[in-house]
Amino acid sequence: GPPEPRVGHAPERSEALFARARAVTPGGVNSPVRAFRSVGGSPRFIERASGAYLTDADGNDLIDYIGSWGPMILGHNHPDVRAAITDALAGGTSFGAPGWREVDLAELIVRVTGVGKVRFVNSGTEATMSALRLARGFTGRDYIVKFRGNYHGHADGLLVEAGSGLITNADGLGASAPSSAGVPQAYAQLTLVSEYNDADALDELMRERGHEIAAIIFEPVIGNAGVIVPTPAFLAALHRAREGGTLLIADEVMTGFRLARNGATERLGLHPDLICWGKIIGGGLPVGAYGGRADVMDFVSPQGPVYQAGTLSGNPLAMAAGLATLRALDADPDVYTRLDAYTSRLADGLRAAADATGVPVTVQHIGSMLTVFFLDAATLPHGEVRSYADAANADTAAFARWFQALLARGVYWAPSQFESIFVSAAHGDAELERTLEAARAAFAEVKA
Ligand code: PLP
Repeated sequence: GPPEPRVGHAPERSEALFARARAVTPGGVNSPVRAFRSVGGSPRFIERASGAYLTDADGNDLIDYIGSWGPMILGHNHPDVRAAITDALAGGTSFGAPGWREVDLAELIVRVTGVGKVRFVNSGTEATMSALRLARGFTGRDYIVKFRGNYHGHADGLLVEAGSGLITNADGLGASAPSSAGVPQAYAQLTLVSEYNDADALDELMRERGHEIAAIIFEPVIGNAGVIVPTPAFLAALHRAREGGTLLIADEVMTGFRLARNGATERLGLHPDLICWGKIIGGGLPVGAYGGRADVMDFVSPQGPVYQAGTLSGNPLAMAAGLATLRALDADPDVYTRLDAYTSRLADGLRAAADATGVPVTVQHIGSMLTVFFLDAATLPHGEVRSYADAANADTAAFARWFQALLARGVYWAPSQFESIFVSAAHGDAELERTLEAARAAFAEVKA
């Protein structure tokens, strides 16, 4: 492993950078959760990253559990990915015309996921936004269904009862729909919201309004309210909902190529009509994609009447990074077994540490996604967190103290109670030991 990580430098450069950033950028960041609003303090500015570690502007080496919010499943600065980007770079950065890498990456995704066709965009937001337009164009219906606490990016119609940064930064989830200013009520009304893991509510909604509903979009495992796994009954209701012609859109932006090679679709046995991807398929560069049934995808322009385009879509650098990442995953048959094993050991160690200090927590994990909810599951209706309403009982002040105590010890956890953390293939025994040692001390601080 790497030499002993350096920690304990005061975050002076980070603070100075944050002060400059706040003067020229709203809140000092280019994406809200990075600002540490819900845990307090100044965000660390990151200078570079390698393997399982980030190095901040003051020279602290931090064990990274964010992985750029999911993409860095191989760890940072992976040699194959770097080589592929460098190779592409030598040939120019963007052509505005098709190239071979787009074909290679599309073929790989089609082969691994079994979708008929795929279209590349530049972010997860673009993927979900485009998939919904496609579903509306294909079905000729206007309404969509999403679930409370699910986050699908920041397109207007999806900022309704949304998870992720919407929970901790704005007025909060459930306060009102829409969950962002600037989203017209008239447009938000086309988004019907149902409760995650409530099969009866979904059945009833579909009975009443199914004929008007173009698509149901869902996180097949919620990451954006903390990790919440779907019940078999809920998954069955989602699939029943297709019977009247409503399209089922699995938002695998977070779970795709993470929970298994074919994401949650493989791991949970889903049969979606369309799938959205992002994060891992770009290997750390800006890429999203949507794909699915060929008859539906052929409605996309220029083949069909649903318009969707992008100046930088499919650009060679992004495609190279995605290709190298997916090929490295493909070439490593037990990478998912190792990721899961690390995450299970992390979960066990965190539970033991919390128990030993008497801090009530509920650790939920699947694959390499994990959340430590600061709540006692015994107080919840099902003895586990199954919805945003359950997660909302968490003690966010205790979480914030725990987060800061970890960070001071060189462990960079997600700076919000309502997020998943992400383990990478570069996390090994040394990182696990250091993390659990820091966690024990952090739980003790929370208790004190
Ligand atoms: N969908 C899900 C499930 C996500 O987790 C995210 C981002 O976190 C998005 C969509 C939006 O992706 P992006 O941030 O690339 O626009």
